[in-house]
Amino acid sequence: MEAKYKSLTIFEFQEKFKDDEDCLKHLSNIKWAKGFKCKKCGHGKYCQGNGKYTRQCTSCNYNESPTCDTLFHKVKFSLLKAFYIVYYVSTNKKGIASGRLVVITTCALSCVFSISLTVVTVSTLFTLKPFCPFYV
Ligand SMILES: [Zn+2]
Repeated sequence: MEAKYKSLTIFEFQEKFKDDEDCLKHLSNIKWAKGFKCKKCGHGKYCQGNGKYTRQCTSCNYNESPTCDTLFHKVKFSLLKAFYIVYYVSTNKKGIASGRLVVITTCALSCVFSISLTVVTVSTLFTLKPFCPFYV
């Protein structure tokens, strides 16, 4: 990993992400940092959609959530828990045992596997730039 990417400490992480809403807000800020563009029609204007931090295209009415097209899309458990899994998997250079993540997050092992496998896969594909929403 290159030195220019610095991960949040666990204390900074816990301060920044207290609940699912903090996670949605963070994803929304990253996703639309350069502005909104509807993925269906390309229109650039939106209004509040049908969920928290969801944006609705004012041209075709398509609703897009902050998790759409991210590894957090359709996660069946708390977004905060998914964030914790991604945090631990992507910031532990020597890896972290799945059993430990089950204890930390109280998620089922299958949930831990699905998220951590995605993180490892994406990290491998982008070896020049670590994939982690918590690097600053
Ligand atoms: Zn649209």
